[in-house]
Amino acid sequence: MEYKQEHKPIIKVSDLTRYMICPRLVYFSARGHEQGGIAKGKEKSVIESILLKELAFNLHKICGGEDEEGKREETEADAKRVIEDKVDGVEWIYKEELKGVKKDFFEEVKKDFIRSQSMNVENDEWLGKVRKVNGMLELEKAHGYEREHTMLSEKLSMSGSVDKLIRTGEEVIPCVIKTGKCPEYGVWRSDRVQLAAYAMLIEEEFETTVKRGFVEYIRTAEFRESQIRRKDKALALQILKRVKRIKGGVFPEKGENAPCDNCVFEEMCDTKKTLLSKLFGK
Ligand code: SF4
Repeated sequence: MEYKQEHKPIIKVSDLTRYMICPRLVYFSARGHEQGGIAKGKEKSVIESILLKELAFNLHKICGGEDEEGKREETEADAKRVIEDKVDGVEWIYKEELKGVKKDFFEEVKKDFIRSQSMNVENDEWLGKVRKVNGMLELEKAHGYEREHTMLSEKLSMSGSVDKLIRTGEEVIPCVIKTGKCPEYGVWRSDRVQLAAYAMLIEEEFETTVKRGFVEYIRTAEFRESQIRRKDKALALQILKRVKRIKGGVFPEKGENAPCDNCVFEEMCDTKKTLLSKLFGK
């Protein structure tokens, strides 16, 4: 008798983070509605986030590291040059994400970004924080990092691509880059869950135990270490199950703090709600 191999759906870590913003985002994205592109009026902040993220991948060069030719970057002018250099070419790296953005508009936002980052460098607060001795950047300088390391676990039915992966010899450490607001203390709950999900993937691939991770709040140059807790792993697994159900067709409740005003699915979401209300008389 022939047995059919059962293929479990693989859920991405990015789906878990999306769920934590609003479960319905998972529902609409799973149904191929992603083509909506950047929500109207949000283009500038999306481009800025992309530029900031790219900057975060090159912090080691700004904080006194070496450039591609082995030249040490030490002065303010060096830092500004790295920023300009890295911002150039972003449209090629993030071609998919920037689909539909007008070239002139993009160039304008890019210029503004370089201007504001140069001010950050001049007023020394941002650059000062980047160059201050901090655990994550010290580890990065000493061991380097792998950018966007992709992992897949059939056992967990989960995959993910962690922004930075630092391997020290004794430890494998996940780091995520965030372009949004930094909390007063520690890291946001959703960031802890994201780190816990990456930790589980790393533990399987590298047969190790992950004790800690880092969150890089690049806008304000805050680098926060976070312990990987059992309860965050449990929450990640619970969300994974919910995401599977939503992808299977269950229409979820909206998130508690769902950002509906800036949501690309707003119209669809309303129509769906009306349809369900008609069907069930709610
Ligand atoms: S409109 Fe609001 S509830 Fe609907 S998917 Fe967007 S954020 Fe979620």
